Amino acid sequence: MALHTGRHFLQIPGPTNVPDRVLRAMDMPTIDHRGPEFAELGFEVLKASQSVFRTTQPVIIFPSSGTGAWEAAIVNALSPGDKVLMTETGQFAMLWRRLADRCKLDVDMVPGDWRRGTNVKEIEARLVADKAHRIKAVMVVHNETSTSCISHIPEVRAAMDRAKHPALLMVDTVSGLGSLEYEHDAWGVDVSVSGSQKGLMLPPGLGFNAVSEKALAAAKANSSVRSYWDWHDIVAANKAGSWPYTPATNLLYGLKEAIAMLHEEGLANVFARHKRHGAATRAAVRVWGLELVCQEPADYSPALTAVMVPQGHDADEFRKIVLEKFDMSLGTGLAKLKGKAFRIGHIGHFNDLMLMGTLAGVEMGLDLAGIPHQKGGVLAAMDILKRQDTMPMVQPQSAVA
Ligand SMILES: *Cc1c(COP(=O)(O)O)cnc(C)c1O
Repeated sequence: MALHTGRHFLQIPGPTNVPDRVLRAMDMPTIDHRGPEFAELGFEVLKASQSVFRTTQPVIIFPSSGTGAWEAAIVNALSPGDKVLMTETGQFAMLWRRLADRCKLDVDMVPGDWRRGTNVKEIEARLVADKAHRIKAVMVVHNETSTSCISHIPEVRAAMDRAKHPALLMVDTVSGLGSLEYEHDAWGVDVSVSGSQKGLMLPPGLGFNAVSEKALAAAKANSSVRSYWDWHDIVAANKAGSWPYTPATNLLYGLKEAIAMLHEEGLANVFARHKRHGAATRAAVRVWGLELVCQEPADYSPALTAVMVPQGHDADEFRKIVLEKFDMSLGTGLAKLKGKAFRIGHIGHFNDLMLMGTLAGVEMGLDLAGIPHQKGGVLAAMDILKRQDTMPMVQPQSAVA
């Protein structure tokens, strides 16, 4: 291994860079999770979490990865044999589907080419055709981290409403929450699934389910096997600021600090910043002459950018060179994009000069890897970052009430 100095560039789209403030907030003695001091922390993080999901309904926090929170959504709200409608936006949609299959759900999946967000027209057509209302849930990935395409959740909700279909709307916003607009209540989402290590700027280890009254009622009536993931046990314990089992105490200290940082910046500014970094990154990719995985401009993700390498070149060879020479981790292509694409994370704790360092590392790496490209992508990104009209203007207004 080469010797490296300074900070490692962790530009994968999760886990993301953890702010020093959050690291310091977690550097605390672990306390009694049944004591009064803990209850205060418990109440604070539950309330703060609601402010990020934008909900007044319960947010359930698990000591788990995002995958655990996927499973929790399924085992609480659905039973084996239930029909669900999913859409193939990319590898994360495929993994959620595999989990649903293992939970013995009857999955109807709208096919996709991994180059755009959810096909809302097709969702609507299948819901309209489901006269008997056999479909119990529509399950969509908000920010598909394998392709850098987003799905437009309000459009999915509108399609469900037009079809007058009573299915639950379940959304994976593991890599969307805290980096792009999300409105659990206003968008009529029944279960929002998330995790700590993407837009929330925390280490891995917390899983989230924000749940509607309708989803809670469905869970109450659902006798399918579950214990650790059971929403009602947790909601009941949360009323006293505690959990039915040992929560990830120190990650909760971090969560409190990370959400405070999001509100100090203002959620609107956080989202504008991610969009701006996405635009600057795509400007660089355009000059390099490389192809974006996402082919639908309306679906470009503000959180990351997935880039194809030309045929005959290996994206992982390129990533290896960037890691060895410049100490920067870029995201690998997942599943059918393995070797064909790499992903640039610009999500979470991030700023203009970190983006410039990232893009400079990519441009130098393209050269060293012998990948044909035009020079000057970094300059194109600089031009965007210098433009006054893209600078954050909005005053922070989303502070926790
Ligand atoms: C990261 C991610 C997950 C899975 O989270 P884990 O913490 O790795 O289990 C699920 N969905 C999306 C969209 C993700 O980006």
